[in-house]
Amino acid sequence: MALKFFNTMTRSKEAFAPIEDNHVRMYTCGPTVYNFAHIGNLRTFLFEDILNRYLTYKGFKVTQVMNLTDIDDKTIKGCIAEQVSLSDYTQKYKDGFFEDIDTLKIKRASVYPSATEHVDEMVEIIQGLLEKGAAYKTKDGSIYYKISSFDGYGKLSHMKMDELRVGASERTASDEYEKEQVSDFALWKSWDEVDGDVFWETPIGKGRPGWHIECSAMSMKYLGETFDIHTGGVDNIFPHHENEIAQSEGYTGNTFANMWMHAAHLIVEGKKMSKSAGNFYTLREILEKGYAPLAIRFLLISTHYRMPLNFTFDGLDGAKEGVKRYNDFIDNLADVSSEIDGGEAGGIIEKAKVNFVEALDDDLNMSEAFGVVFNFIRDINRLKAKDKLSKSEATAVLETIAGFDSVFDLRKKEDASLDSDIEAMIQARIDARDSKNWAEADRIRDELQAQGIILEDTPGGTKWKREL
Ligand code: AMP
Ligand code: ZN
Repeated sequence: MALKFFNTMTRSKEAFAPIEDNHVRMYTCGPTVYNFAHIGNLRTFLFEDILNRYLTYKGFKVTQVMNLTDIDDKTIKGCIAEQVSLSDYTQKYKDGFFEDIDTLKIKRASVYPSATEHVDEMVEIIQGLLEKGAAYKTKDGSIYYKISSFDGYGKLSHMKMDELRVGASERTASDEYEKEQVSDFALWKSWDEVDGDVFWETPIGKGRPGWHIECSAMSMKYLGETFDIHTGGVDNIFPHHENEIAQSEGYTGNTFANMWMHAAHLIVEGKKMSKSAGNFYTLREILEKGYAPLAIRFLLISTHYRMPLNFTFDGLDGAKEGVKRYNDFIDNLADVSSEIDGGEAGGIIEKAKVNFVEALDDDLNMSEAFGVVFNFIRDINRLKAKDKLSKSEATAVLETIAGFDSVFDLRKKEDASLDSDIEAMIQARIDARDSKNWAEADRIRDELQAQGIILEDTPGGTKWKREL
């Protein structure tokens, strides 16, 4: 079966092949850096991480560009309220974003361009659109895109032009969704007092770009006029991505992106996440409650990306168990010592590999892929319990899981350089017990526990493992 993705543009699953053999170029709408990312944002970023990783697993080279939206109504409002410069204000949230994605093991994109560093490129596109008659300047100096100049307007969100005209009278310069209306939209906003000292002096006037043009300029700069995949959350489909298409295709005359993929939203305990409902969480807030990053990662990637994800704390407890089972399975394979092959593992491994690829080839069906892997774990554990797994078969199982884990990345952190220190402490505890110094033995156990090392005294000696 071929690799297929659901294309929002055609509303169907399509076979995927990149423009350039073996090289996938994808653009991902990044965070608006006016606050720390919430778990909904991170759900979408994790979908994009899995997409990138699975394409890599399939042997493609992936160039992923993710922008940082540092110019928009919210970042400007924020810096003015705090009386700091725009760059000082957004830097804190840019740093926070990178900390969060590292915590959740989201692989870094190839480039993270900021809007503030690409205003020249935006101005160039706006000038081109003005020349073509696809944009016009209003009295106050703002520049709007004329949607009636673009026949394809509405093709992504499947809206009709007649429906779009309804809001055309409310020609506001704001890029807040509720104010933007379904009308011509701002490419450039001329300077206004509320912008404070956030403005650029450019050939098209003093002002700042609208949000949509930022993504057109940065995607085409790094990926070319036509690239393979454009992603985001479903809220981006309209107006953001519809407008990106109009601007880019209106300017170049070429198809902008071949495949449009969107993640459904995350909701919390069955309800839309919102500050007023008291169910709004940043990653930091969940970590403060004591949950492990791997459990959060597992919960956020285990639902199909096109299904709404209901985040619950019970679900998070369940995810913790799942991650533990996965890691325990890998840890326990090290105990296998038999030299005689049971003869069944090879077939189980092959079947799991085929099923894994089949699940993910089918529009990145992660819940199915996890089903495959947990069945695999169950089947191998059965062999192991019957003493039908040899050391070399266990090694082949480990290699297979390592391949799957290049997509999941749910393996707990192993820092082998610390192993000798831990073992020295375990020996010190054994010595303390031998000399009946129970207090010292307990102290050592507590110290290790504080470092996330769990000791287990077995008839075969003291074993240790890392907590998640
Ligand atoms: P923003 O920082 O608002 O520009 O959003 C960054 C990314 O998060 C975009 O791809 C949005 O579509 C996505 N997003 C926003 N809210 C949610 C949510 N509740 N669930 C999933 N993704 C979301
Ligand atoms: Zn965007």
